[in-house]
Order: sequence, then C-alpha cells, then structure tokens
Amino acid sequence: MAQLIDGKQWALVSREETAKTVSDLKTNGFTPGLVVILLGEHPASMSYVKGKDKAATAVGIHSELIQLPTSTTEAALLQLIERLNHDDRYHGILVQLPLPQHMNEETVIRAISPQKDVDGFHPLNVGALTSGLPGFIPCTPLGVMKLLAYEGISVEGKNAVVIGRSNIVGKPMAQLLLRANATVTICHSKTHNLASFTREADLLIAAIGRPNFITGDIVKPGATVIDVGINRVDGKLCGDVEFSTVDHVAGFLTPVPGGVGPMTIAMLLHNTVEAAMLMANMDTDK
Ligand code: NDP
Repeated sequence: MAQLIDGKQWALVSREETAKTVSDLKTNGFTPGLVVILLGEHPASMSYVKGKDKAATAVGIHSELIQLPTSTTEAALLQLIERLNHDDRYHGILVQLPLPQHMNEETVIRAISPQKDVDGFHPLNVGALTSGLPGFIPCTPLGVMKLLAYEGISVEGKNAVVIGRSNIVGKPMAQLLLRANATVTICHSKTHNLASFTREADLLIAAIGRPNFITGDIVKPGATVIDVGINRVDGKLCGDVEFSTVDHVAGFLTPVPGGVGPMTIAMLLHNTVEAAMLMANMDTDK
C-alpha cells in the first residue's frame, strides 16, 4: 500500500506558520489584507471563495469578499481592480476564475498589480517563474512543492512527469520541478503513448480533469503520485488517479479529497502574507 500524503494535516501546519507570521506583523501594527472578487453565482466558485475568505480570516488576515452580478461590465471590473491596486488595506487581489463569457480573462489578469497578484497568474509573475526570478507562484503547484518538502521527498535528479499543461497548474508545476532539478516531461492530450512516459516517472503529477484516468498498470512501482484533479462522479469527489489500483503500486500518494486541495488555500494565505511583507519592505523569499 502507498504511503498517503495527508494534505489536510500539512495545510494545517502551513496555516499555523502563516498565522504566526500574521500575528507578528499585527504586533508591529501591520495587518495583511486579501480581497477576493467573485462574479456571478457559480456554485463551485462560490464555495471556493467562501472557503478562501474563511481560511484567511482564521489566520488573522483582513479578508473581504466582493460579489458582483454576472452582468457586471468588464470596464466596471477593471475600474474596481484599479481602485484596489491603490488601496493600502489590501496586499492580495484575487479574481475568481472562470469569468463570465463577455470578459477577457487575460485583460482582467493583466489589470491586477503584479505586486498584489497572489494567484501568480500575471504575465510578469509567469515570466519571473520561468526566468528563476522572485515573484508570486500559482498556489496549486506551490502547494504540491510544499507537500513534497514537508514529506521529505526529494525531486532532484528524479524523472518527473506532469500530465496537463494549463497555465494555472501544469506549466508552473513543470517550471517548479525544473527549478528543483528534476528531469521534467510534460504530457497533454496530444501525447502519443502516454503510458510509456508515466511508467518511467519517479514522480507523477496528474492535472488532467478526468476521473480515475491514471490506473495502477501505468504507474512505476514505488513512484510518488500527486493527484491534482478534482472531479465529481455521482455526486462524489474523486481525482484523476484511480485510487484503488494506484494505491497498490505507488510509494506515496495524495488522496482526493484531502490531498492537494487544502494546500492550495494554504498557499494563497502564504502568498498574501508575502505580498504584505513585500509592501512593508520586510524580508521575504520573493
Ligand atoms: P485544464 O482543463 O485547463 O487542463 C487539463 C490538461 O489536461 C490539459 O493540458 C489537457 O491537454 C490535459 N489532458 C486532457 N485530456 C488528456 C488526456 N486524455 N491525456 C493527456 N492529457 C490530457 O485543467 P486545469 O489544469 O485547470 O485543472 C486540472 C485538474 O486539476 C482539474 O480536475 C481541476 O479541477 C483540478 N484543479 C485542482 C486544484 C486543487 O486545488 N486541487 C486547483 C486547480 C485545478 P491539452 O492542453 O492538450 O488540452
């Protein structure tokens, strides 16, 4: 049986670290602030933003949730972002994706000040990650790296295979693994003979969005398997990894739920505090 990586537990550890930093900052009269903007009433998005707002408040961050109707114009949203960019109470700005169809995601992301872009989606932060420069790193891949570090799983020299090449998970994940000296392969929907890559992976990251896609027969025995996927089948959450078969082959495995998901929120809090410290000209790892 694989050793399970308890993301819920590690997220708690990370949140406690963040809460301690927030408390120290508050002692010095400085309160980190996060503002989350949600457009429309998409049930999954509403649940995500409420979770983020609650988690931020729990560690002492001043958190505000701005809910706007789907009919909000792009111009009005850009105006709001511009105002928040100059509002000293907020060090992190997050616009929950996906946006309504009449809005251009790239335009909206670009409008957020790179110094407040705690999601790490602004092209300047993407470029910084690619160039190995300081900047904000997208929360999900950052959470995966943190989980590996907490578990003491070294990636240096390992054969890492990332399945998925989205801007929010796959691509930054691959960059972070490369930065940590893994040998990285990125697979996607056009990859031929995917199993020939996965079977060679010491570290396999599944960020596909297809339930139970990775089965035990295509996993290298003893591999570390990280399941980023969040899918709903018959009303139940499941990942991209078929837990029942991969559990018998992998060395380490993240469950869904309770694996990568909780770390994503923990890293949003971490990034927000980093943004606040950056603005206060304190030492950060940025
Ligand atoms: P996207 O849909 O943006 O990307 C999916 C990727 O998977 C694409 O690159 C796609 O390839 C690839 N893919 C699709 N089908 C196949 C296939 N048959 N074989 C190989 N590759 C394939 O999804 P995201 O990156 O946004 O999210 C991925 C998953 O992670 C989702 O389940 C999402 O819900 C979850 N997620 C979880 C988070 C968490 O906190 N745990 C946070 C964010 C996302 P191509 O580019 O060729 O289309």
